[in-house]
Amino acid sequence: MSIGFLKSDIIPLMPNTINEIKKLNLEIFFEKKIAEHIYIDDEEFEKLGAKALTKEEILNSCDIIVYYRFNYNDIEYIRRNSILIGLFDPFVNKEKLKLLLEKQLTIFSLELIPRISRAQSMDVLSSLATIAGYKAVIISAYYFNRIFPLLMTSAGNLLPAKVFIIGAGVAGLSAIATAKRLGAYVSAYDVRISTKEQVESLGAKFVDLGLFSQEEKYGYAKKMDEEFYKRQREALKEYLKDVDIVITTASVIGAKAPILITKDMVEVMKKGSIIVDLAVEKGGNCELTKYNEIYEYNGVRIIGIPNLPALVPYHSSFMFSNNIKNFLKIIIKDGSLNLNLNDEIIRETLINNEKVI
Ligand code: NAD
Repeated sequence: MSIGFLKSDIIPLMPNTINEIKKLNLEIFFEKKIAEHIYIDDEEFEKLGAKALTKEEILNSCDIIVYYRFNYNDIEYIRRNSILIGLFDPFVNKEKLKLLLEKQLTIFSLELIPRISRAQSMDVLSSLATIAGYKAVIISAYYFNRIFPLLMTSAGNLLPAKVFIIGAGVAGLSAIATAKRLGAYVSAYDVRISTKEQVESLGAKFVDLGLFSQEEKYGYAKKMDEEFYKRQREALKEYLKDVDIVITTASVIGAKAPILITKDMVEVMKKGSIIVDLAVEKGGNCELTKYNEIYEYNGVRIIGIPNLPALVPYHSSFMFSNNIKNFLKIIIKDGSLNLNLNDEIIRETLINNEKVI
């Protein structure tokens, strides 16, 4: 079977993964100049036995096509019976996925990789969230008009920045660790009580608002009703008065992100403070977030830059391509597709008609 990897800001094939993919008896193709933005040229891939093609050639000829984020504009160019792997944003694109299924395509949507120990090495959401949490803190530090660490100097004492993380999942924990390393005073809140210990183990303060929810399958937060979110906002409003940087990462699987910071809450924040809204692609956790903009309201800058991992393309590609290689080891056996639906990883990621209803 042949496999083709497509170019994107975060790439699904890096040279270090080629040898292991070859062992699966796959013939490897990649889109020309796939890694030029991270200064790896085609020859480096070719030396290891992969071959460069144009995008059209890959779409026309490869049995398996691997994307970072699937491009729904490609639908008409993809051959019937192809196998597609990538991020399909399946909860948002149900109608488009139906069209793909009508073309007899086999689709693996990587957002659906189950959060189980055996799948950790292929968990692309964790890889991307780890980088996003890091980059969110770095961006906030760049825009903040003070420094992060406590500094006692002969020119006076500089107080540490107060960084508050809302949502202590993978991105939130990565943000906590990064802000701690920069010397900030860090606190965090999450609706899942199990995060308290994780936050504290990183040396941050857990802010207990007395508001917790149940966990869904695979440890995701449960969607709560508007009354719950209203109580959360009231409790958060008090806390926001005293922080400098807020990084919001709160997300609910299959739904829009909850609004946790409203306009009146931004109004109580200190002028000069920063909000980085990591939930921007799911609608945002702050009511005022503008997609792909840095918007200033009442002296508070609200950063709505999407796809932060793409701003760290080398390491994001390194992690993403390793995840892909590990996923291929599950779905390919002896050079053929292994559609063993008794395997939870295959069953959960495979898009079928039931998942697009
Ligand atoms: P996510 O991106 O879905 O959400 C981010 C965080 O926002 C979560 O911690 C969630 O609890 C929190 N949140 C949601 N609504 C909130 C609200 N109203 N207020 C405050 N916080 C809110 O989560 P994620 O980072 O993808 O992690 C989801 C789960 O998966 C976690 O339990 C995590 O530990 C688990 N996980 C397991 C594995 C594995 O075992 N393979 C790998 C990664 C993550």
